[in-house]
Amino acid sequence: MNAMKKTDSEYREKLSDIEYQVARKAATEKPFSGRFWDHWDNGDYVCVCCGTPLFSSDSKFDAGCGWPSYSTPKDGNSIAEIKDQSHNMMRTEVRCVNCDAHLGHVFDDGPKPSGLRYCINSASLEFKSNDSEEIKKSSAQEK
Ligand code: FE
Repeated sequence: MNAMKKTDSEYREKLSDIEYQVARKAATEKPFSGRFWDHWDNGDYVCVCCGTPLFSSDSKFDAGCGWPSYSTPKDGNSIAEIKDQSHNMMRTEVRCVNCDAHLGHVFDDGPKPSGLRYCINSASLEFKSNDSEEIKKSSAQEK
């Protein structure tokens, strides 16, 4: 058994309501509402559920869409891509391989050279600064 996986009630306890709804129930946070769409410190964005490093600030760019956007994953093996036909759209959902957390979607309109835009919910991420080992979970209200 994977010790990093938790039961549904453990996730409910550990996560805030929006984190639980997005990461475990595949909801989407409102654009420009999350903690990271306008966050530009150097460091890694890790899974809010299990702490797996998912994206680096090196690949983050401003897509103007109100969600944190990345041109590449930190490690392609940490991200699962799943065809998603909900809402009458053909999209590719991205999830954390380790714990199956919903992260967001990947689109093919990103900057070169990857041409990809990983459009990710802030609620599925925590930020780990390169400057310290401290994990920040600053909310939009604290800005
Ligand atoms: Fe995870």
